[in-house]
Amino acid sequence: MTSTAAPPPPATGPAVFRANCPHCRTSFELRADDLRLAIGASARTTFYSFTCPECGEAVRKPAPERIVELLTLGGVSTMRLA
Ligand SMILES: [Zn+2]
Repeated sequence: MTSTAAPPPPATGPAVFRANCPHCRTSFELRADDLRLAIGASARTTFYSFTCPECGEAVRKPAPERIVELLTLGGVSTMRLA
C-alpha cells in the first residue's frame, strides 16, 4: 500500500483583493480586472485605483511596495508612469 499520490493542487481561481471605499465606507472584494495599478517614479506617485461597486466613485489609494507586489502577482494590469 503506497500513498505517494500528491493531493491535487488547489484550484487557482482569479485572485481577489479586499478593498474599501472612503466615500461610502463599504468594504468589498475586487478581482484583478477591477483594479489598476500605476507605478510612478517614486512611492508618492505609485497608487492603485478602482471604481467602487457600491457608489461608483473612483477611488485612488497609495500603493506601498508590498501592495504593488501583491497586485502584480495577482494579475492586476500595471501602468508605468513616465
Ligand atoms: Zn463607495
